[in-house]
This record gives sequence, C-alpha cells and structure tokens, in this order.
Amino acid sequence: MNHIVEKHIVVLGAGTGGMPAAYELRNRLGPHHRITVINASETFQFVPSNPWVAVGWRQRDDTTFEIRPYLARKQIDFIGKAVDTIDAAHNKLSLIDGSEVSYDYLVITTGPKLAFDEIEGAGPQGHTHSICTIDHAEHTWAHYQRFLDDPGPVIVGAMPGASCFGPAYEFGFIVNTDLRRRKLRHKVPMTFVTSEPYVGHMGLGGVGDSKGMLESELRNNDIKWITNAKVTKVEDGVMHVTQLDDQGQVLKEHQLPFKMSMMIPAFKGVDAVAKVDGLCNPRGMVLVDKHQRSTKYPNIFSAGVCIAIPPIEATPVPTGAPKTGYMIETMVTAIVENIASEIEGREATARGSWNAICLADMGDTGAAFVALPQIPPRNVNWFKKGKWVHLAKVAFEKYFMHKMKTGNSEPIYEKYVLKALGIERLEP
Ligand code: FAD
Repeated sequence: MNHIVEKHIVVLGAGTGGMPAAYELRNRLGPHHRITVINASETFQFVPSNPWVAVGWRQRDDTTFEIRPYLARKQIDFIGKAVDTIDAAHNKLSLIDGSEVSYDYLVITTGPKLAFDEIEGAGPQGHTHSICTIDHAEHTWAHYQRFLDDPGPVIVGAMPGASCFGPAYEFGFIVNTDLRRRKLRHKVPMTFVTSEPYVGHMGLGGVGDSKGMLESELRNNDIKWITNAKVTKVEDGVMHVTQLDDQGQVLKEHQLPFKMSMMIPAFKGVDAVAKVDGLCNPRGMVLVDKHQRSTKYPNIFSAGVCIAIPPIEATPVPTGAPKTGYMIETMVTAIVENIASEIEGREATARGSWNAICLADMGDTGAAFVALPQIPPRNVNWFKKGKWVHLAKVAFEKYFMHKMKTGNSEPIYEKYVLKALGIERLEP
C-alpha cells in the first residue's frame, strides 16, 4: 500500500495570485495534503475593478466576496488574520493575535505595500487619492461625489518609483468619460503627471506604438501631460513636481493646482515579508529564482507583485517593471507544478513566462498590449485600441469573480485572454 506523507502548504495572501494558487494546488495535489490560506482580511477583492469603484460604476459587493465558504468547499482551510512574523528558519508563521502556524511549503503572494510615505503629503492620509484597494477606491468615490458639485483641476498619474502605470492611464480616461457623460468635462482641466520618461513607456520601455497611441488619446481628450515627473511634495490643492530632462537634469519646477488627484504610488514589500532575513531585496520584494523559489529558503515560493523584478531600463526618474495578471498566472502555475514535483520526489523545473499582457479600460473604449517577452526586443509587441477591450475587460471581471468562487483552476489568460487577443498559445 502506498503511504503518502501529508504536507502542509500555506498560501500567504488571498489576492489575484493567492486564490488561484490555493485552488490549483488543491486540484493538482488531490485531497491528501493540507492547504491553508492566510489573508489579512476575510474578503477577496478584485483589484483591477477599483478604477470603476472610484467613479461609482461598481459597488463593493460587485467586486468583493467572503473568502471562507468558497475555500471550504474545496477543503482548503482559511485564516482571516494578518501574519506578523515569518520564522523562515523554523517553518512557522506568527499571526497578529500571537497564534502560530507551521508549514512544509510557504507560498508568498502578499502583493504590495503602498509606499505613499516616500512623498510628503501623498496618499489617502495626505492629499492624493488612491484606487489600489477597495477601501481607497470607495474613499475616492466619496470625494469624487463632492468634487462633482464644485469641479476644478484634476491630476492623475504615477509617483517616482511606480511600476503599475496601466491603472493610472485607466483612471484618467475613465474620469474623462464619466465627466463627459455628466456634461462637466469643460469645467475640469486634466493633467497626467508621470515618472515615465515618455507617455506609454509603462515601465516596459514602451509596447508597440503605445507612445504614439496614448499621446494621441490624451490629446484627443484634452488631457495635458508631464513626463519625467518627480513629485516632491503634495499640499492641500497643490502638487510640487520637478520635471527632469532625458539626462536627468532639472528642466522645470511645477506647482500644479488641483481639486482632485489620484496618484499610483511606488510599491514595497509588506513588513512581515520584508523583515525576514535574506528573503528580500532592500525594498522588501522577495528574491526568487527562475522557478519562483526563494533564493535563500528552498521551501518558500513566491508570485505576484511581491517578487523582485529588475527595472527594464534605467529612467531619469526611477520606474519599475509592472507585474500583470498573465505574468502572475504563469508564476502561480509554475509554483504549483514545482511543489507537486517535489512532493512526488521529482526535481522542480517549471518556470513562469514573465510576459506582459494587459487590458486597460478607457471608459467606453480600451487599450490592450502584449509584450512577449517582457524585455525588448520582442517576438510579439503590440498595442491596440478598441471598444472590444472595454467589453473584454468587463467579461474578464465577471469570469475571474466566478472562477474565484467556484474554485475552477483553469488558467484564464492562457485559455481565454490570449485567444481574445489572437494569440493561440505561447512558446514554452
Ligand atoms: P494582491 O491581489 O494585492 O493580493 C495580496 C493579498 O495579500 C491581499 O489580499 C492582502 O490582504 C494580503 N496580505 C498582505 N499582507 C499580508 C499579511 N501580512 N498577512 C496576511 N495577508 C496579507 N493587472 C492586470 O493584469 N490587469 C489589470 O487590469 C490590473 N489592474 C490593476 C489595478 C490596480 C488599481 C492595481 C493596484 C493593480 C492592477 N493590476 C492589474 C496589477 C496586478 O494584477 C494587481 O495588483 C494584482 O492584484 C496583484 O496580485 P497579487 O496577488 O500580487 O496581490
């Protein structure tokens, strides 16, 4: 008779990476191993829908749900408390209530810590708004409703060190569309302020004609822009921006007035992960090898926004490389395969393809880009615009929420999004 030694796999963080990881692990490993998901809250939130929440196009209930009952159906344990400390040398975690959980394998999918503190006056505690969490998006919606009664200048964009530029462009174009529908756009001068060296850089060195197309869209929609922008301070109603030239010298100092601003911050790793000896780079991002395995702790794997990826290129104002949904999906699939291989006594050889694919909504239209591989020169490199992207993004939201509730572990991007984009499959 086969004797299976039960392993305990803990997935830390139930977001875009962690939830699919738990379901895929259960599907791949079968019922003989224990899987526990630990998350800072009881609720799953679909982060890509937050720009819509911030203008009232979605409500909290549309994009969030209670995690526990859905995981229970797949015999996955759930703890809805934040982890305070990881004792990686002894394979255990301490939660904020002092209780401890041991593991054989740890999958870290804790997403970003939002580094608003790096810029004086930035963030929801200061004078800019955010769409990075559902709470922030609701807070932005509350402010936006007051703003509609007394509109004025809007600034949208990304702070120095940011890596996630897509949602900044999305939010700018969504606000533009919403204001037009309300016949208020003529009262709102809009400026896109970004650390990117040029419009459409996206932390990727541009994708296809992203520069030309996004500049054209900004111009067609009366949105001014400032690139190589280093936001240095935000005061109530005034953003201080140092604009650099291509050599990194000061080109101009701006003091921009605003009545509403949403700026994507730089990301760091969350404290519980960042403080583990030897696990992370100086910004608290997990150092992994090509198999998503920690370079220091062989039984720790990591995926999603929390892993360390070098910038594509040096830019006058620092920028990072984005980690988008498809990349995250391939990282998760590699981790599941590698843990399964090890448990079954084989070598862990699976690798995620770190390709960038993104659907960005623009209100009533949208833009999609595909960058394969992520670092140029590329085999596939295009940026396209059309109403179909808006519709595809709405469909994607519905399907992802459905998948997270049913525990269906099929890879969405690989099966559907790539096909929608006209790509049958990726090279191995
Ligand atoms: P998250 O989804 O953020 O999940 C992290 C989880 O870890 C959270 O549930 C958190 O509560 C938990 N956690 C953190 N610390 C602890 C702790 N100490 N203890 C326990 N739990 C903890 N990408 C795309 O491809 N398409 C898009 O349209 C898109 N839109 C985006 C829109 C916005 C506003 C943002 C910010 C990003 C967007 N992205 C998009 C990029 C990326 O896909 C998302 O950021 C995605 O949510 C990242 O997934 P993740 O699993 O790494 O982190």
